[in-house]
Amino acid sequence: MPLTALVTGANRGIGLQLVRGYAADGDSPIGTHRGGAAPQVPGVRWETLDVTEPASQAALAHTLAAHPIDLLVCNAGLYLDGGENLAGGYPPEMWAQMFATNVTGVFLTVQSLLPNLQLSAAPKIAIISSQMASHTRAPGRSYIYRSSKAAALNLGRNLATDLMPLGIAVGIYHPGWVKTEMGGESAEITAEQASAGLRARFAALSLETTGCFETWDGHPHAY
Ligand code: NDP
Repeated sequence: MPLTALVTGANRGIGLQLVRGYAADGDSPIGTHRGGAAPQVPGVRWETLDVTEPASQAALAHTLAAHPIDLLVCNAGLYLDGGENLAGGYPPEMWAQMFATNVTGVFLTVQSLLPNLQLSAAPKIAIISSQMASHTRAPGRSYIYRSSKAAALNLGRNLATDLMPLGIAVGIYHPGWVKTEMGGESAEITAEQASAGLRARFAALSLETTGCFETWDGHPHAY
């Protein structure tokens, strides 16, 4: 049976490679984008979603009503504070925008697509967090991004507990330092490498491993 995988923020970067990979494997990926023209990828169904907008979430849930989803990948993310400085930077608006995307956006997407996941025989949720979520690894700076990804990790861990009785496995992942608009040119791996590793992790995710925090290449990540 082909897998139905919905990936948020799939119009570029890691998300685009994820839907490309599922389409190439003969699965049934649904990529979401915020609007405008979606990339032309054979085998990919496109839907619009701004993860921060409740009305957009409701519209997607309506469009996909009664459509089983086997894998939900919460990938959409924002990293705006790389150049901020502690003395006068990190404005409150930036905190609000990044938390709305990286944390609330994950929660709203899970909440609105929960009925679809419950129609699958083996439903899974993958949350793309980051090594920057880790509190044991704390090199400083990027306070908004780090704390938002830590919140996404915490959200995933608690969802894993609550969704276990519903048979839904939840994994949280560091995708690697990836050459995308976010990761930049000097990053360590390509989006193709990240996507291949992540898809293998998602395939291995089960109720036995639910709540895991893993790297793209299969190592447990320090919390
Ligand atoms: P990109 O910046 O290349 O792509 C981000 C994607 O998220 C785009 O499709 C963007 O859409 C989408 N997005 C942003 N805001 C919203 C929103 N409100 N609603 C819906 N979609 C939105 O990032 P990457 O591909 O590099 O990152 C993917 C994920 O991996 C993110 O969660 C990121 O934090 C995480 N990550 C990435 C790392 C890296 O090295 N690249 C390292 C660790 C984690 P649009 O085109 O409309 O802006």
